[in-house]
Amino acid sequence: MTKEKQFVKEITTMEDDFAQWYTDVVKKADLVDYASVRGSMIIRPYGYAIWEAIRAALDQMIKETGHENIYMPLLIPESLLQKEKDHIEGFAPEVAWVTQGGAESLSERLVIRPTSEVLFGEHYAQIIHSYRDLPKLYNQWANVVRWEKTTRPFLRSLEFLWQEGHTCHATGTEAQEETERMLEIYAEICEHFLAIPVLRGRKTDQEKFAGAVHTLTIESLMHDGKALQTGTSHYLGTGFAEAFGIQFTDKNGELQTVHQTSWGITTRLIGALIMVHGDNRGLVVPPRIAPKQVMIVPIAQHKEGVLDKAYALKEQLKSVARVDIDASDKKPGWKFNEYEMKGIPLRLEIGPKDIEKDQVVLTRRDTGEKMPVPMNELETKVTELLHAIQDNLFARAKAHREEKTTVARTMDEFKTALVENPGFIQAMWCGSPACENFIKDETSATSRCIPFEQEHVSGHCVCCGEKAEHLVYWAKAY
Ligand SMILES: [Zn+2]
Repeated sequence: MTKEKQFVKEITTMEDDFAQWYTDVVKKADLVDYASVRGSMIIRPYGYAIWEAIRAALDQMIKETGHENIYMPLLIPESLLQKEKDHIEGFAPEVAWVTQGGAESLSERLVIRPTSEVLFGEHYAQIIHSYRDLPKLYNQWANVVRWEKTTRPFLRSLEFLWQEGHTCHATGTEAQEETERMLEIYAEICEHFLAIPVLRGRKTDQEKFAGAVHTLTIESLMHDGKALQTGTSHYLGTGFAEAFGIQFTDKNGELQTVHQTSWGITTRLIGALIMVHGDNRGLVVPPRIAPKQVMIVPIAQHKEGVLDKAYALKEQLKSVARVDIDASDKKPGWKFNEYEMKGIPLRLEIGPKDIEKDQVVLTRRDTGEKMPVPMNELETKVTELLHAIQDNLFARAKAHREEKTTVARTMDEFKTALVENPGFIQAMWCGSPACENFIKDETSATSRCIPFEQEHVSGHCVCCGEKAEHLVYWAKAY
């Protein structure tokens, strides 16, 4: 018989090598496995359960705001993708082509969807005729493929899961309100459910979506001081509608062109969750999104009454939390380590001594704090702790972002900040793409957003010294 493996799952510490730490966590927390095609990933049940929790919360909000789910085909004919010039230019470098079906070469190449604007455009042109048909508020949950050169699980992969909303409106004002509404819903998903604070703002013209008039974005700061775009919402104006002929007759009988939006969030959010909350013991999952909130670990479970009590506690807690029990014959030490690695918010230990005292021992994943709790107070205490953990994770992430945000008035200050306190840099910008490019080339930091909440940290562009137009958040980004 082989000796039961008792070792603690080793992961690289994040201070030593953040990228390796990330890779270790996604593997050892059983979130993903690598697939045979380079850059594609198998999302394992635990990783998928987290995605399902995000999806359930967001899907409800999407529906509550009047949107309907729809499913579009995976394949797009090349001619359709060519219809909107900016769009094809933006996506051409990273699309995957299908050139053959069975033994036959196709007369027209097909694209595996990198995004579905053109499919929606074609469909909307067929079904929208009158002002009575508007607004059209559709959303799709799907997979997309983008042929990325460098890939990392969740952050940048060949194929990923997402939702893409596509809407048509009678006026530009209505469409712009929609982009703001959806950005706010994304912010709510990040802040309320994932406990990830976000900056809300607009992308510069260079950073906006291919084919959009403007792109709204939410941006978050990861533990290593790099930024991650966590959601975007685009106002497409009438560009796609003109290319696809999406027109309607208004109340006065005049022919008008619709104004469109599109918006999306992806499985990248799981990458954000890992990099915002994780620590050197593994993943930390915020309670509101955690597939399992409490894990019961019986101690000396072979002793009479322990397992019975453990199962009874599971029943008792079912109404206040998502609770599970590990009654396998693995050692408690292995189990502690495993569920810390998986980031389960609360661990509940119950053994013969606890039963004698009519108590259990709860341990918080976020702080490591361990506390005895009388059994008759368990429901109240668990509810209270899950809230406290959720709030603590958000507060901690927000404090981290604030600590890692530096104001720069000159390029020297900008460069120093990137070295000494990597994170967001607040700096004024004149609005010229030349300055934006110069900063990117000199520092590899990019403009993340022009925040809705503008501050006036200086009168001059950080780069050229000319009159400043906007405050911009800059950062190195994923
Ligand atoms: Zn400038």
